[in-house]
Amino acid sequence: MHPDLSRLCIHTITTKPWDLEEALDRYSRAGVGGISVWQDAVAALGSRKAGDLIRQYPVDVVSYVRGGFFPAADPQARLNAIDRNKKMLDEAADIGAPILVLVCGADPGQPLELSRAQIRDGIEAVIPHAAANGVQLAIEPLHPMYADTRSAVNTLEQANDMAEYFNSEWVGIAVDVYHLWWDPHLEDQIARCGRNGNLSAFHICDWNTPTSDMLNDRGLMGEGCIPLHQISTWVERTGFSGYREVEIFSNRLWQIPQQEFLDKIISAYLKIW
Ligand code: ZN
Repeated sequence: MHPDLSRLCIHTITTKPWDLEEALDRYSRAGVGGISVWQDAVAALGSRKAGDLIRQYPVDVVSYVRGGFFPAADPQARLNAIDRNKKMLDEAADIGAPILVLVCGADPGQPLELSRAQIRDGIEAVIPHAAANGVQLAIEPLHPMYADTRSAVNTLEQANDMAEYFNSEWVGIAVDVYHLWWDPHLEDQIARCGRNGNLSAFHICDWNTPTSDMLNDRGLMGEGCIPLHQISTWVERTGFSGYREVEIFSNRLWQIPQQEFLDKIISAYLKIW
């Protein structure tokens, strides 16, 4: 019997050594249902051609990664960020992605509250463009170790507050276990996120101990200490029936043959689901 991989999605960054075409070919041959596309994978071809290529394969495009980085002390930089996000929304539409994931940003030279206010303003400025493209903006809260430069939105509660402030079908939330597993309020906040119709995406990987690199040492599911099955149960309880997206940045795993890595991802996934 063929294993059920219909809800498995893989981010192209996970198998970074493969270009977009090879990722599409290998994922679809393995029966993986979805692909999330990192902007670098599109840059080589341009988004129109990338979209044409993707449509030749039997995989769904789940999201385009990543917009955001709205805050900056310099007002011109904030305007540039809005333009950059509009362009990424156009690219998301070109490749057929229903979601643009937002790494919201932070400027270490200013208070986090101010960065959060600028994130809110930035999202507000691009919502009409998101609506025009039919692409939803998904706020991804990031682990607090990234609060200096990558995101001033660090808990699901903050993301829920922000999404509920907009109360727009064009703003949702990406729940990533790597960033949120430690939060004692996670179960309640996931329920709240689902109740308000804001749970748009579910990202999976694991947390290695010790972590050797803040960015590029994520673990394969089952390798680390994240209670993945438990968190997944909370997500499913909201009625979420979308993709489980594997997003692993790993210097170690990028070095092994990538087909071997893909096989490992599939067997790790099937152990949990
Ligand atoms: Zn993520």
